[in-house]
Amino acid sequence: MGAMAEPKILLVTVPAQGHINPSLQLAKRLIHYGVHVTFMTAASAFNRMNKTFTTTQGLSYATFSDYDQGFNRRTADLNLYMAELRRCGSQALRELIVESINTGTRFNCVVYSLMLPWVATVAREFHIPATFLWNQQATLFNIYYQSSKRYEEVIENGVKDPMFVMELPGLPPLSRYDLPSFYIPPNPLAFVLPTLKEHFEILDEETNPKVLVNTIDELEAEAMKAVDKYKLVGIGPLMPSNPNETSIGGDIFKVSKEKKEMEWLNSKPKSSVIYVSFGSLAVLSKAQIEEIAKGLLETGRPFLWVIREDGTEQKTGEEKGLSCEEELEKQGMIVPWCSQVEVLSHRSVGCFVTHCGWNSTFESLVCGVPMVTFPQVSDQPTNSKLVEDVWKTGVRLTKNEEGLVEGCEIKRCLELVMGGGERGEEIRKNAKKLKELTREGAKENGSSDKNLKAFLNELSINRQ
Ligand code: UDP
Repeated sequence: MGAMAEPKILLVTVPAQGHINPSLQLAKRLIHYGVHVTFMTAASAFNRMNKTFTTTQGLSYATFSDYDQGFNRRTADLNLYMAELRRCGSQALRELIVESINTGTRFNCVVYSLMLPWVATVAREFHIPATFLWNQQATLFNIYYQSSKRYEEVIENGVKDPMFVMELPGLPPLSRYDLPSFYIPPNPLAFVLPTLKEHFEILDEETNPKVLVNTIDELEAEAMKAVDKYKLVGIGPLMPSNPNETSIGGDIFKVSKEKKEMEWLNSKPKSSVIYVSFGSLAVLSKAQIEEIAKGLLETGRPFLWVIREDGTEQKTGEEKGLSCEEELEKQGMIVPWCSQVEVLSHRSVGCFVTHCGWNSTFESLVCGVPMVTFPQVSDQPTNSKLVEDVWKTGVRLTKNEEGLVEGCEIKRCLELVMGGGERGEEIRKNAKKLKELTREGAKENGSSDKNLKAFLNELSINRQ
């Protein structure tokens, strides 16, 4: 860069754990290449985040308010919330950019994540290049992109015909149970599909639209190729490369300092423990939690189970505790939050019962841990389909007629994945293969590293 000023990138992120984590990991990589990063998200999330990263050199932060007009994120309609984010965020972003220009520290680029198309609009007002960071998998991008001209038609077909199958280039046939939940009415998050359309329109205005994707080229080659209009580049996995590394962490939930679960894991045999977690947002019914408890107990295997304090529907008075708490504590350990990548990297963990959020799915693949999937909403059913039918590193739980996954089903799937049968062996072998493939792409000078350097070169931030 010679005498030129330090390059600066502004990273704007949705205030949710599943978006904050990969964005901070991207920040870390950019800093590694000598870029100064300003990380921006909404105040509600930022105030709760563990700020281990605030002392990191090369990283500063900014927030936009999401409390205006007494807006309450917990009780209010998420559609209104997103509109509020747009209003407050656009204003704060404009002010931040103006200030940076006035102080001679203009951003070379703004990288914005999913659901924030307004960031690109504001950046363009100042002729600053804006790059879209797709924090999820390329397959999902492909689905939304291929069907973007006919969202309504897809939704209607899905409603009329329970056997409806979506066939798209570069993808396996997708039944309505495999599609992102936004296609299946009732969809309480009405803003999602129109916002995605807006994202595509913004990309269409660029000369050579490029999207940074939290995947690895080798993992989703077909899906990436099928998106012919935009160049998708894998820069993942956006997760800590070293599980013990906490220099840039952004947990919204508190991790206990003692990390007793790690000690507990140390005391268990190799690949013996079931790790259970449904991410940062999913809320399960009390009845469902009881079934999971039953299933886990019936396997007789040790388990580490994350039950967030806000993760159960009814949790007052009598309803709060689990009926078999004592047995659960004898056989396993329940924590309100943990350092997930550290847990998945532990040799004792043999299976992950997951809701299949993309971060959790990707982390599991990179750590080589087979999965039992219990998708809830959003892209989780699609991730589950990939795990079960494409990568073949896990199995999906089946619900009964009342929509409940029973304890016996949980035990069946866990035995299938962890037990001695042929299918389990195959799944475990595939999980190992996927671990190697993803590690190869993620290493220095692997495809993701090369793609990130190429992105910086295009911004004239040359990195060898
Ligand atoms: N996570 C964690 N500790 C936990 C549970 C989850 O650190 O006890 C992290 C996990 O590693 C992942 C993120 O929270 O990076 C959850 O993102 P994901 O996309 O899997 O699901 P979401 O929370 O968006 O539904």
